[in-house]
Amino acid sequence: MKLMFESSIPGRGCSILPACDVPIPALPESLCRKKAPNLPQLSENDISRHYTALAGRTHGVNNGFYPLGSCTMKYNPKINEEMAALPGFTAIHPLQPEHTAQGAMAVLYQTEAALCEITGMDAMTFQPAAGAHGEFTGLLLIKAYHKYRGDNQRTKIIVPDSAHGTNPASATMAGFTVVSIPSQADGCVDLEKLRAAVGKDTAGLMLTNPNTVGLFDKNILEITQIVHDAGGLNYYDGANLNAVMGVSRPGDMGFDVVHLNLHKTFSTPHGGGGPGSGPVGCKALLAPFLPGPVVKELQGQYHFQTPEQSIGRVKSFYGNFTVVVKALAYILTMGAEGIREAAQNAVLNANYMMKKLGGVYTMAYDERCMHEFVMSLEPLKKETGISAMDIAKGLLDNGIHPPTMYFPLIVHEALMVEPTETESKETLDEAIAVFLRLYETAKKDPQTLHDAPHHTPVRRLDEVGAARNPKLRYPF
Ligand SMILES: *Cc1c(COP(=O)(O)O)cnc(C)c1O
Repeated sequence: MKLMFESSIPGRGCSILPACDVPIPALPESLCRKKAPNLPQLSENDISRHYTALAGRTHGVNNGFYPLGSCTMKYNPKINEEMAALPGFTAIHPLQPEHTAQGAMAVLYQTEAALCEITGMDAMTFQPAAGAHGEFTGLLLIKAYHKYRGDNQRTKIIVPDSAHGTNPASATMAGFTVVSIPSQADGCVDLEKLRAAVGKDTAGLMLTNPNTVGLFDKNILEITQIVHDAGGLNYYDGANLNAVMGVSRPGDMGFDVVHLNLHKTFSTPHGGGGPGSGPVGCKALLAPFLPGPVVKELQGQYHFQTPEQSIGRVKSFYGNFTVVVKALAYILTMGAEGIREAAQNAVLNANYMMKKLGGVYTMAYDERCMHEFVMSLEPLKKETGISAMDIAKGLLDNGIHPPTMYFPLIVHEALMVEPTETESKETLDEAIAVFLRLYETAKKDPQTLHDAPHHTPVRRLDEVGAARNPKLRYPF
């Protein structure tokens, strides 16, 4: 496909404005260009076709199956986009007086109430712009809590090795020392190792539950109790709430603070670099430390307030507000039952695929999974030389976006599959058939898979080179 600069024809254009019929003021010489800007010269038709062709080359949920583990690439109802695009939400200014923005404040207030109900928390901030940003904010709350109590020796955060990669990174960013504890063979936290790790220096525990191998830790109540008994607080990475929303609540599992990814679970598409939102909910004991402003209701009027011991702002104004509008529209259209059903179907779809593939592919953990499951291609690689990467490339030829690869690190040759609740049984069956066919190909004709993809616009790329030395500009 040609770049716009390569299709440019001198003299072509699409200006539809009439010639200027008012005097053009003279600009100072020093501010004028010496040479016309180097822009592609194309008709509107050329431009439209160019972008339409480009769009056809990307893969999204609207094109096909996208089982990218730990990312919740689900279909999001367009009605929620329409709600977020209402002029009453998009045409307001963040510095408007409160009494003129009561509707927008009601959205923040109601979404906070709904998400606190779903998570079992007491208060919430919508400032963080992403999941990792929420983790950082939540950890600052924990830090502020210990500091306020004069408990300054609590400098360590315990992070199981089945946590999402952002967890240890956020803890380090927040100034804590990370203590990593290994998982047991069944993928759950090793309680003995946890008991040995906690002490007077424990600020808290950060847990991803369901964890990155797709399992719900069955000892969750014991885990949070061990940390509380040692004087620490419990942080719940709720980015993958899709698996448990409406069924179980972090607040009931003994967690004090949680972040959610509205751009995974609550109707904002994940990926593409669009705005996200990683609200942080907390128990009452941490509410005085939340970033400000938060919305309070007083005699039927909404007001902004900054909590007394606030850690300060973590983002400008109120976070990515329209993402919150989409979340509220989603929650209200789904209702309590719909939310629960979405979680149940997410878990059902993952287990269906896992069972159908389990007889052939090697599952990293042969237990009932939550919203995703992890396979290890290590045995297949030993036998045939076909790696997780080769299977992923083979999927591309079949119009399927690959699962998350080589993550979690505790599983070798990992493929992590998250089908999500919005896929039909027919789509799952098709994907299962593709996975099984690729397995056959691995055994019979491995070279075909080593050479895959065959039918994509570009073949195998130098992925390290693309990341380290990206070519983002046209060399004129
Ligand atoms: C996606 C994810 C995150 C990070 O969220 P971002 O919005 O990408 O920063 C953190 N934890 C888990 C478990 C996730 O799946």
